[in-house]
Amino acid sequence: MSRTIILASRNVRKTQEVAELLAPVGFTVVPVTEFPNVPEVEEDGDTFAANAAKKATEVAVALGQWVIGEDSGLQVDALNGAPGIYSARYSGPNATDHDNNVKLISDLTDVLDERRGAGYVCSVALSNPAGEIKVAAEGTCRGRILNEARGAGGFGYDPYFLIREFHRTFGELSPLVKHKLSHRARAFSKFIPLLQRIASEFQEQQSS
Ligand code: IMP
Repeated sequence: MSRTIILASRNVRKTQEVAELLAPVGFTVVPVTEFPNVPEVEEDGDTFAANAAKKATEVAVALGQWVIGEDSGLQVDALNGAPGIYSARYSGPNATDHDNNVKLISDLTDVLDERRGAGYVCSVALSNPAGEIKVAAEGTCRGRILNEARGAGGFGYDPYFLIREFHRTFGELSPLVKHKLSHRARAFSKFIPLLQRIASEFQEQQSS
């Protein structure tokens, strides 16, 4: 495995965050969109972990390369964990972030502040070229859903996701802070040491 790694995601903002998390440890992320012949992965797993593994293995086998899969989303307590694994398509198959946020806020009408707790979840998995998962990790981040958007940073549900300790949403907080606190940052902080170990073993095998 070289220090270039493919990410099985077509979400530009997510890819950018993953690239920013991996750059300090010397990995350059190449999105799957650079390979037009790779078919889209159907996200039909029951969990974030199953979908992350499915994305990683299907793209790895299609390309014969090491690939990272990432699946993430928002779980709202008052909605029994929805939108969960359906976060990207909460308001329909071709939903935009705006559409999803409109539905979320409408679903939470009349829900009191103290019942608006929510958590982001991020699952990440690394597949070898044969389609075997070699590393997997998960991270979570708790917050509260506001009624009105605040800030233009981040993506998805971020302008509505308040981090209590900071009294700010992920839309308002800098990428630097999001990269310390977020579900994605927490998943990658577990994932990176394992990725580094596999990358160096692989490089040793290649040079021997
Ligand atoms: P996926 O690409 O199928 O994993 O879907 C991820 C979806 O979850 C995104 O489209 C967002 O709706 C939501 N999501 C995941 N991570 C974040 C985040 O860091 N901020 C805001 N929304 C997120």
